[in-house]
Amino acid sequence: MPVTAAAKAGKKKPVARSRYSKAEIEAIFRRFAEAEPEPKGELYSVNTFTLLVAVVLSAQATDAGVNKATPELFRLADAPAKMVALGEDRIRDLIKTIGLFKTKAKNVFLLSKMLVDEHGGEVPDDREALQALPGVGRKTANVVLNIAFGQPTIAVDTHIFRLANRLGLAPGKTPEEVEKRLAALIPEPYVRHSHHWLILHGRYVCKARKPECERCLISDLCKWPDKTAVAPAMPVAFGAAATRESDGA
Ligand code: SF4
Repeated sequence: MPVTAAAKAGKKKPVARSRYSKAEIEAIFRRFAEAEPEPKGELYSVNTFTLLVAVVLSAQATDAGVNKATPELFRLADAPAKMVALGEDRIRDLIKTIGLFKTKAKNVFLLSKMLVDEHGGEVPDDREALQALPGVGRKTANVVLNIAFGQPTIAVDTHIFRLANRLGLAPGKTPEEVEKRLAALIPEPYVRHSHHWLILHGRYVCKARKPECERCLISDLCKWPDKTAVAPAMPVAFGAAATRESDGA
């Protein structure tokens, strides 16, 4: 491989930039906002604690798969003290249809105990405290801070990571890199809901294996060289109006 002048000089490679102008980014998010002004997450939960547990359970699993197991779990334990009382073995039994259930059961039990012991049974609205809980990483903390506490965080999941790189919107090698770039470029009024719009767009339209460009709201703006449509589709809400068979793809 030829050595570049920059490499010879010991300089770092330039950071990949977004391929979109400010006006194009604004147009993309404006269309998402018009199509679905109040996007919602699709994980079943009944309060902040069960949201936290559901997000922990959703790591490397589909929302639909998690939603099959959680109604019974949350009926029995919708608060940290009740989850502790349920015990790790019973939690494991209730979530055994979800991937990595043994580790997740342990984490759910331990994080519930920590919430009881150190946070008065409440879920903290603070990133550091959330990430100190067993099984809670940056992405889970971002989801909880966004949905439960209304903070403008961006939780980069597999769909957002793919979109950011495929479209050249916010190219990055790691979820954290993509998160930082998205946070820097998304216009402020759209930040709060941006991760939901991007997840829904990735899950139902800009799918991993075969993006449905003909159904895409932003196909005229998209700069992916392999896109198969150039005229934007009429705004149609994600979710019920969209095909859901590829959930988690
Ligand atoms: S045009 Fe196709 S590739 Fe581009 S964002 Fe839309 S679905 Fe994805």
